[in-house]
This record gives sequence, structure tokens and C-alpha cells, in this order.
Amino acid sequence: MAGLIPEETIAKVRNNVNIVNVISQYVSLEKKGKDYVGLCPFHQEKTPSFTVNEGKQFFKCFGCGKGGNVFSFLMYKENLTFPESVQKVADFAHIDIGEYTQKRPRFSNILIKINEEAADFYHRVLVSTNAGKRGLEYAQSRDLNNEIINHFRIGYAPKQDNLLLTYLRGHNYQDEDLLNTGLFVQSQAGELFDRFRDRLMFPLCNEGDYVVGFSGRRLSTDKTEAKYINSPETKIFTKSKTLFHFAEAKKAARSEKHLILYEGYMDVIAAYKAGIKSGIASMGTSLTDQQIYMLRRITNNIIINYDGDDPGIHAEERAAKMFNQVGGFNLGIVVLPEKLDPDEYVKKYGIEKYQDEIKGALTPTDFFLKRLAQKYNLANDREKLAYLDEATKEIAQLSNPVEQDLYLNKVAKEQSVSIDSLKVNLTKYRRQQNTAKRHQGNPVPLEPEPINDYPDAPIEDEQTSTINDPVQTRLLYLFIHSDHAREYLLAHQFLFPDPNYQKLAELWLNFSENQENPTVNSFLDFIPNELQGIIINAEMTDMPQDFSDREIDEQINALNMRKIKVQLQQLMGDLQDAKRKADNDEIISITRKILQLKRIQG
Ligand SMILES: [Zn+2]
Repeated sequence: MAGLIPEETIAKVRNNVNIVNVISQYVSLEKKGKDYVGLCPFHQEKTPSFTVNEGKQFFKCFGCGKGGNVFSFLMYKENLTFPESVQKVADFAHIDIGEYTQKRPRFSNILIKINEEAADFYHRVLVSTNAGKRGLEYAQSRDLNNEIINHFRIGYAPKQDNLLLTYLRGHNYQDEDLLNTGLFVQSQAGELFDRFRDRLMFPLCNEGDYVVGFSGRRLSTDKTEAKYINSPETKIFTKSKTLFHFAEAKKAARSEKHLILYEGYMDVIAAYKAGIKSGIASMGTSLTDQQIYMLRRITNNIIINYDGDDPGIHAEERAAKMFNQVGGFNLGIVVLPEKLDPDEYVKKYGIEKYQDEIKGALTPTDFFLKRLAQKYNLANDREKLAYLDEATKEIAQLSNPVEQDLYLNKVAKEQSVSIDSLKVNLTKYRRQQNTAKRHQGNPVPLEPEPINDYPDAPIEDEQTSTINDPVQTRLLYLFIHSDHAREYLLAHQFLFPDPNYQKLAELWLNFSENQENPTVNSFLDFIPNELQGIIINAEMTDMPQDFSDREIDEQINALNMRKIKVQLQQLMGDLQDAKRKADNDEIISITRKILQLKRIQG
């Protein structure tokens, strides 16, 4: 958690350099109108589409879609982390930020500030006081060495009454704020008490790596007390949106190229000891959709490694299904032998063996087929047939024909049957699934067609989102720049059809609540690179500041109309199918839906 640079230092660096001067070190820029243009350093081109806007201090390539501020430029160009990039820009501008990087940042949110103070307090008690000796002995008995204790900021909540309360009151915090942190419980008489006592304390951090809550592990053998207790949900702590170690794992994901999802935070810590820094865990609850989207923004390579016992494997199965539903993930599933959890496994077999297990993660299909095989007695022909049937159905769901072939071959070989016979069944199931999909009644809302303004087709680059939808861009711009527009959209429960736009809206809400002076430029430092392009698009087109509620309504309406148009196209296709099959009922039902939609279109 070292190396956090305070927001005001970052702002100071940003305000003291000119992006044009920094980028000129890498790209030969020419002034054209109010912008500077040059040949893009991120893709090959003959005519310049790389643009730097001096006024806004942004760059944007209209060919490949890359864009951002001065920090993102260096992150892309030099493959730096964010703090490294800030350091580099500071060096360029001859600003010494050494003194700043040591200090913890100031917090605009009082609840975060108190939680941070509490984390420091608990940590100090653990590592440097007599009262903490008991905690330290316990930590050592659990193989938590100094490096781990420091990295995870582990602490100890002492046995004595109300030490934290006294400490924080001594720092002039108000009781009302203290109560809102969830760190204290209130008696009927209104008195406050420390919630955590005689517990090893694990800070839980938000995406920005600030402490928003704690999990406390009981030290005593008193079974009448819960083994683990967590902070209750507060304004800053929502379990369903928190992932243990997420802020740190995000950074590690750049080099490890994946994130590893564990069942509990002790597993994340065990993995960290084994050199795996990209581990995360949900907070004692099962995985939520929000968490899956948090991961999606960082990488699509996810490895799930839950406990090797039956509940663990069941949870793994559930998680894999959830990831599949969201889609676009490249999943790996690790099932450790002998029902071991990662912590136990590392202790028993060592670090290298564990890393091999991660490398040998199964694909979801492999995992499901293995699970399926365990449910049948394959020595019995009747059961074997049932298994083959189920397995073929599973494989039929794969959309990639090469994958289908791969797994059919595998199953055929393992069960000594001919692949041709399996293929016949596969074709049958695929047809059934397609029909089922078409008959699901109301047409599935489809993604809007991407609209591309650029003359040259953008180069495929999965790192950068090249979507540029003028309607959603305009709405997002208003959402960010106008309190009124934001409240209007929220009050109308508006959701952006494109998940990237929706994500940005949610991130902005979160960001603006946590910052004293939220600016678009500092927002860029907070969001994943692949979403920056959308923001830059909104900023670099000269967008009018004025708007009316009516304009917003019209934009929302335009999005709805677009959705209807796509649905109509789909229905027209279905209608042709139905006519070919002379299925009269189907023809009538589809026609009715078409008429309904046309009526809405007006
Ligand atoms: Zn480019």
C-alpha cells in the first residue's frame, strides 16, 4: 500500500506541465487550428490522426481510439504504472514529489478518514505495543510474517475497553461520525463501545485502496463469539461491491495477466506468500454481479480457486455460471486435490507446486464435464448413456465449433464411443437450443449498433474501447458535467444501453462522492485505460454546455427507437423463417409483435 500519491500532489504535477511539451518528446507535433496533430505512436498510419488538445490537456487518436491525459500517455508509451507515470511527469517538470509520496493522502470523506486512522491505530497496537503482543503471537502462529502484516496492514483490536474510542475522541472526531463508521456499537442509553475487541484486524479497502471497513478474527477460544465479524454496511462499505485486496491486485494483474478469485481473504494472503499478488476475494458472501463487472474492467482472464471441498466446488460451479452469463471472460478453474484450500495446499506442497496448479487451471467446459462424470457410474451402460447425453448437451452450448470438436473428441475417446454418433446428437441439441431461444417470447434487447464517425476503420485493439455513440456520449457528458442532468437521469432510472457507458456513469458517481474537487482530468486517473477513450471523445468534441430536460428526453427517446429498430429487424428475420415453415401460429404471433413495435415507432 506504499506509493500512494496524494491527490493534491498529482494535481500539482498535472497543473505544472503542458501535455504538448511532454508528448513532443515522443511525437513530432504540428499546430493545426487550436489542436496539435502528429503521427500516432500507438498505431501505424500515414496521415496524422493523433491529436493533442492543449486547452483541455488531453490527447486522442482518431485512428486507433487511444486517448487520455498526460499520465495515461506515458503509461501507454512507456508501459508505466500510474505512480511511475506521475513520477516521470514530475521529473520532467522538475517537481520534487518525494516528500509527498511518503505522506498519506488527505481524505475528503470523514468516514474513510476515521477508518484509515483506525487501521493505523490497530496496526500500531499490533506491531509495537505490549497490548498487541497477544495478537502478534497469534499472527505468527498463523505464519503471518512481518512483510505480510505490513502489506495487508493487519492490526490488533485490544481486549481493553474502548481504546479505539478514546483514541479517536482524543483526535477530535465527533461521536456521530464515529457511529456512522460502523466501528462502534451504541447501547440503549446512547453510549458508544468499540465493536471489535481482542481480534486480529484485517482492513477492507475500496477500489482506491482506502480503508472502508474491517474483518476481525477472534483470538480467544470462546465459541460463543463469532469467529469472524465484519464491519456492518455503511455509506462507504457495501459488501456486494467490495473485493478484498482489489486495489493491489489490479496493479498486479498488469504483469500476471489475470486476477485470481478466492473464497476468503486468508486464501488471498496465502497466495500472496506464494508470490501471487493478483488474488482477490469476496467478503464472506457469494459473488455478486457488481463484483463480476468490477473484474471485467480490469481483465477478462479470471481464474477461480475456491476450496477443494464439496461446498467450495459447488460455489465454483455457481461462480463459473455467473461469469458465463455476463460473458466475454476467459475463465480458468482450479480444483485442488484432497479437498485442500489454497492455504493448506501451499503449506503441504509448497509454492512451486501451487503455481503449477494455477497454470493447469481447467476450462469451464472441462470442469463441468469432470463434475458431470462424477455424478454417474460410468461402468454401467445405462448411466454411461445418460452421461454422454448430458455431456453432449453441455458441449452443444459452446458457440465455437473448434471448441465443440475438441471436447466431443475428448469425451468420445474417454468413453470409447465414435465421435460421429456424438456429432449427430450435438446437431440435434443445437437445433433445439436455437429454437428455444427464438421462442422465448419478448425479443431480447440487443446492443445498439456501434456508430463510427471516423473515415478509416479503427484498428482492432481490445485494450481500448473504440465505441463512439454520439447519443450516449452526449448523455454521459451531461451526466458528468451537470448536477441537474445527473439527477434527472437518475430520477428517470436511466441506464446506458452500452455497459461501458453505464460503467463510466457509475464510476463517476463513486468518484465525485469521494473527491473534494472532482475534475474530468483527475477522473481519468481513476478509470481503466480501455474506458478513457469514451471520456476523451466526450471532452474533445465541442459539446454545447446548454441543455434542457427536453433535450435529455429526446436523447433517451432516440436510444429507445434504436432498440426498437434492432428488434424489428430480428422479428422480420423470424417472420421469414416462419413463412418458410408455413407455421401460421408463429406468423400471426410475430406479426402482432411487429405491429406493436411499429405503433411505438409512430
Ligand atoms: Zn492511433
